[in-house]
Amino acid sequence: MKTQQKKGKVIFVAAGPGDPDLITLKAVSWLQKAEAVLVDRLVSPEIVSRHVNPEAAIIPVGKQAGKDGSTPQTDINALLVQLAKDGKLVVRLKGGDVSIFSNILDELQSLSDNQIEFEIVPGVTAALGAAAFAGIPLTARGYSTAVRFLTYYKSETISEAYWKELAGTEDTLVFYMSIQHLDELMNRFVEAGMTVDKPLALVEQATTPYQKVYTTTCFNYANDLKGRNFLSPALVIVGKVVELHQHFKWMQTKQEESTYYFEPLTDPVKDLADDQKIINYHVAGN
Ligand code: SAH
Repeated sequence: MKTQQKKGKVIFVAAGPGDPDLITLKAVSWLQKAEAVLVDRLVSPEIVSRHVNPEAAIIPVGKQAGKDGSTPQTDINALLVQLAKDGKLVVRLKGGDVSIFSNILDELQSLSDNQIEFEIVPGVTAALGAAAFAGIPLTARGYSTAVRFLTYYKSETISEAYWKELAGTEDTLVFYMSIQHLDELMNRFVEAGMTVDKPLALVEQATTPYQKVYTTTCFNYANDLKGRNFLSPALVIVGKVVELHQHFKWMQTKQEESTYYFEPLTDPVKDLADDQKIINYHVAGN
């Protein structure tokens, strides 16, 4: 009798926002067992070199807004399906948490369409990492009763009515993937009637040794920070809680010339251990 092929499975695993110790035990245990690992750009290279099984195929599938070399989402979906159909235990390693602004839905849908089993391991999203490492408690009592995770990556995602609501709210607002549109974002707020002294923080490369925090107000942004080239990745935090940074900042970071912690997309595998195999899978139709 023919032996049945081992059934493949995909585990979505969160790597945390930067500091390689901000990963869960469950994530590490899957990385040690994986036969193939598809890695996002915003994953600490140390996580890969420390925890991934040396026999595993490591496949960088990074994306970066407006950069050549980004892996198309359809290729990632197809790779996950192909590897699982080949009977592999696949880890899909994503920066921050797996489900916050991460395209997980496309990938889940592809697996579900192909009846492929999966599990999801959550992690520390960038907003929570930045809040902790910058000393900005996002819902500090007396400052804010709620926090919202947003993006201004595509301008059409926020309606006029919602801008007005955002401008008036006391909630803490955290914007992902929005630093390239910061001028426009601040203009929108001012147009929508945001109070002029609303505090603003930009947290660059949060939780990494190169973390930098810039604070001002939405009104003073144009004078203080406009035109500055922020290093990727960065988060925008708007709200009264930003005032707490001055009192509770605790992290000593390197203040020399700005350096990237995560390699920009051109050379995503530079920091992987030499003995780790990098396999380019051929994806049907490409
Ligand atoms: N799934 C990720 C978010 C992916 S979207 C998570 O849960 O964190 C990518 C955006 O996340 C970046 O544009 C940036 O706004 C934010 N980001 C990710 N890592 C970050 C870091 N270390 N510091 C600041 N922002 C970060």
